Amino acid sequence: MCPRTVFRSEWINADMDLETFKKIPFKKFDFAHLQGWGEPLLNPNIGEMIEIAKKHCKVGLTTNGLLLDEFKEVERLDYLTVSIASADEEKHKKIRKCSLEELKEKIKAVSSKVPVTLAFMMLKETYQELPQIVEIARDVGAKEVIANNLDYIPSKELESQAIFLQSVDEKPISVAKVKAEKLGVKLTVKPIRMEEVLVCAENPINNCLITYNGQITPCVYLHLPTKSNRIVRVFKGEVLEIEKVYFGDVGDEKSWKSYSNFGKIFERRKSLMWYVLPTEIPPLPEPCKTCYKAYGV
Ligand code: SF4
Repeated sequence: MCPRTVFRSEWINADMDLETFKKIPFKKFDFAHLQGWGEPLLNPNIGEMIEIAKKHCKVGLTTNGLLLDEFKEVERLDYLTVSIASADEEKHKKIRKCSLEELKEKIKAVSSKVPVTLAFMMLKETYQELPQIVEIARDVGAKEVIANNLDYIPSKELESQAIFLQSVDEKPISVAKVKAEKLGVKLTVKPIRMEEVLVCAENPINNCLITYNGQITPCVYLHLPTKSNRIVRVFKGEVLEIEKVYFGDVGDEKSWKSYSNFGKIFERRKSLMWYVLPTEIPPLPEPCKTCYKAYGV
C-alpha cells in the first residue's frame, strides 16, 4: 500500500515539526489535507496542527485507522478518509497486517462525529471486492467510497497488480455502482483505461504538497522521503529513475512564485483545449510524462 516497505533501507522516517507546519500559508488554500507518505496520526503534534490549519481552511486527513480510537481531535476534522485494503479478513491481514473487523469497529465509533470516506486501492487481487467494500461503507456509517488505482508502482513485482495495465472483467465495478446507488453510498471509481489528461487529478494549478521538511513540491509522486535525490518509478514495463522536484522552502515567497510557473504549464494546456488541435497542446512537464496520474487513472 505504501512504497516505504519497498525502499525500507533508504527511507527517512520523519515527522513534520510544528515550527515547519506554522510556516505553511494556510490562508492561500481552501483545504489542508494532513498527509504525505505516512500515517498522520503518528505525528505527536497532529491535534495542534489541526487547530492551526482550521483557523484558515477546511482540514482532513487519510489514515490507516489503527490509532482512530486514541484520536481525540477527530471531531475537529471536516472529513476523514480511512484506507481499507480488502473486504476479506485474511486478505486484509496479509496486505495491511491488521484486522479488518477491528478496523470496522474503530470506523463505526467515529462515523457519527465526522463525515467518513473509505479509500480502497483496486489491486488485481482485490478489485472484485468493490461491491462488498460499498456494503462495509454502509455498515460502518461511511458516506463515500473512493476506489483508487495503484498509480505509483515502485517495483516490477507490483506491476501485475495494476488493473489499468491489463484487461480485467469490469463487472464487479458496475455491480458496485448499482449497489452504491441502492445503499445511498457515494462511489467514485478512478478510470481503469489510460488516456492523457490536460490536468492530472493532483491538479498542480491549485494544489501542492509540503514535505515533512518544508519543501514545496507538486505531489507525492515527485517526492519520496528517501536518501536519494531520485525516485524509482515503473512505467509501462520500464524501471525509470526520475529526479525529485522541489521549488524551495515553504516560508519563502520566491518558492511560491517559482511553483506557480509549474502550475501554469497545466493551466496553458487547459486553456488551449478549445483552440488548437490535440497534437498542438503543450507537452506535459518532463517528470509527469511517465506518471500514470497524467493518464487519468
Ligand atoms: S502528472 Fe503526476 S507527477 Fe505530474 S503533477 Fe500530476 S501527479 Fe504529479
